Amino acid sequence: MVIPGEGPFLGPQPLETATQAELACRILIVDDDVPLRQTLPRVLALAGRTFDESGSVGEAIQCLEHQIYDLVLLDYRLPDATGLALLDWLQSQHREEAVVMISGEDGIDAAIGALRRGADDFVRKPYHVAQLQRAVQSALHKAALERANRAMGERLRASERLHRYLVESSPDLVFTLDPQARFTFINPRIESLLGYERNQLLNRPFATILLPDDVPRVEMLTSNPDNAPASGYNLELRLCRNRASWPRASMGHITVALNAMPMYARSEGDSNQKHLGTYGVARDISERKRAEEIISFQAYHDQLTHLPNRVLFKDRLEVAIAQAQRRSGTLAVMFVDIDRFKLVNDTYGHSEGDLLLRGVATRLKETLRRGDTLARLGGDEFTILLPDINQPEDAEIIARKVLDLMQVPFQLSRGDFRVSASIGIALFPRDGDSAESLTQHADVAMYQVKRSGRNGFRFFDTELNAHYRQRIELENDLRTALERDEFELFFQPQISVSQRRVIAVEALIRWHHPIHGLLSPASFIQVAEEVGLISGISRWVIDRAAQQLAHWRASGYPDLRMSFNLSPHDFDREGIVECIRDTLARHRLPPDAMDVEITESVMMQDTAAVTAKVKQLREVGVGISIDDFGTGYSALAYLQKFPISALKIDRSFVRDLDSPGTHPIISAITGIARGFGLHLVAEGVETAAQAKMLRNLGCDCMQGYFFSRPVDSVATSKLLELLPDQLFA
Ligand code: C2E
Ligand code: CA
Ligand code: CA
Repeated sequence: MVIPGEGPFLGPQPLETATQAELACRILIVDDDVPLRQTLPRVLALAGRTFDESGSVGEAIQCLEHQIYDLVLLDYRLPDATGLALLDWLQSQHREEAVVMISGEDGIDAAIGALRRGADDFVRKPYHVAQLQRAVQSALHKAALERANRAMGERLRASERLHRYLVESSPDLVFTLDPQARFTFINPRIESLLGYERNQLLNRPFATILLPDDVPRVEMLTSNPDNAPASGYNLELRLCRNRASWPRASMGHITVALNAMPMYARSEGDSNQKHLGTYGVARDISERKRAEEIISFQAYHDQLTHLPNRVLFKDRLEVAIAQAQRRSGTLAVMFVDIDRFKLVNDTYGHSEGDLLLRGVATRLKETLRRGDTLARLGGDEFTILLPDINQPEDAEIIARKVLDLMQVPFQLSRGDFRVSASIGIALFPRDGDSAESLTQHADVAMYQVKRSGRNGFRFFDTELNAHYRQRIELENDLRTALERDEFELFFQPQISVSQRRVIAVEALIRWHHPIHGLLSPASFIQVAEEVGLISGISRWVIDRAAQQLAHWRASGYPDLRMSFNLSPHDFDREGIVECIRDTLARHRLPPDAMDVEITESVMMQDTAAVTAKVKQLREVGVGISIDDFGTGYSALAYLQKFPISALKIDRSFVRDLDSPGTHPIISAITGIARGFGLHLVAEGVETAAQAKMLRNLGCDCMQGYFFSRPVDSVATSKLLELLPDQLFA
């Protein structure tokens, strides 16, 4: 009897878990003895078993061609051939059916022949039913085991193929090392990554492919495997390329991120682990490294010239200061500024400007020794650090060299261009002991060179510094004055003596400085001009003056006029004409309600652009007055060239009215005004006597403390209300 659970099974599952369905099996009975053929299924019947019958080898083959069986019960002697023929056929077809041969043959040869040909068992007739049952049962069992084995083997092979594939085609370098850190396995990635054959490296130390500097970092793989973190060692290493197969490699090494895990073998029941070596996976991160390097290069270098930038310069300077302190040495910081650089940018465009800056950078580099640092702080500003000099003269030599080198014209695409430089020098420890103070003081000295005509060098000087500091503060405060609304317009009346009334006011700017209080324009207009803030201020003045005038005109003084002052710089820039025209329109003022006061220096600029702008202003309808007339160039030719409408006699002439020589000058000016048909205003009238004399000389319109100082808009409104008599009282 078959014991349940001992039956055949079809999968690799353990017998105990085989289910009834899995016990299903198909048996082919091949025998020409018909009664026997019909008894066997009954004898061998078991749930799940089905039987087919055939009477000859030929019939059996037909069945086998249509059906796969688990077992063939094969009679030896058959009408068309012996059972051996069927065994041969089964073998030739690589069939896996289990075969139990049943035979009346006594001869051992028959049994041997059958077993040789792959029969699983041989049962001799006559037999006990139990004997046959056992033979069938064990053949089926064996066949099932074999099938399971084959399936398992197939699965293993597939799995091994998969793992091999994964390792062999991995984009990462995969390797194993023995406990002495010699290669025991490497995947083919080594060939494309470093140019080594795999065999070349087997049994060679891991260090063979390491950059020598990195060798000590992998020592713990052999010295300390037991203390590896659970996730293994993670290291960034540099691997050398095989010079032989990569002779012209741009980079001799690559950078990899390595994860290295110690490998252990643990034998059953033994808690001791045996260290087998290391399993490593290395990923090429060279690209990422390069990207990181570029990013950090960009953070510390100027993109245009590739010179160190401000940050790196400061860093190097700080190191140099610390070193100089230790050895009680001297160092120099130079500030080099290219004169007229703005001109190149403005006239030839930025790409030419860039070309020039690169050229300058190259030449400056030539003057320096190894160890010196040349940096570009931005714009046309370069700094040089001479970390070790013996005496100030050493810096002077370099400065002269730089100036000489600049003399040679630079070749730009628009032709040769000559530049000069202004250089300021500060020395450690004499002029400062921090990176900031040294750089700033070199800058101060450079600024002094600029002021005294450029193209030269200068050492820092403490006295200049105090002045410069104030100036810097003023500059900084001025930058925010507009947005903080710290300006105010004051007004000073211009009186017609004959009409005994105020015919115009001059707008004069004041600055309510948060610390220094009310500042007069004399203390900040020039600074505003130098740092390029004047045009913003002028726009503000124009707008406020127009707004105020519109207000007064609407409140009972419809003929009142307004003068305002423009700087020569306003004529260098575009848009001044449009600004005035639009402002007038915005406040609905007729153009002849306002006068622009400009100094003779504007006239003397004498460029086509300035002439055009003055003409355009006149065309708009605005009056043009020459301020401080007589003090400047006294070149009257411009009076013919420019459409001037008024002259303002400078107050120095008025002040000197008492002395004998002035009368002829003022007489001449009044004559000129009459000849050119110009309106005339006398400035700085402080006394009744002066007013009277001017009146006699033919000047009717006057402005000065005698009538009123410049006052704010509220006070001016009151002035306008005053009766003329009171004004002259
Ligand atoms: P300015 O255009 O010649 O203005 C006349 C200056 O003489 C004013 O000085 C005024 O206060 C002063 N003054 C008037 N009457 C007398 C007098 O009887 N005696 C004396 N000693 N001085 C008198 P302020 O306001 O300090 O302006 C100085 C200069 O600043 C102005 O000279 C002008 O060139 C400039 N300025 C004033 N406001 C502006 C402005 O809004 N824009 C520009 N660009 N410059 C301005
Ligand atoms: Ca003026
Ligand atoms: Ca004036």
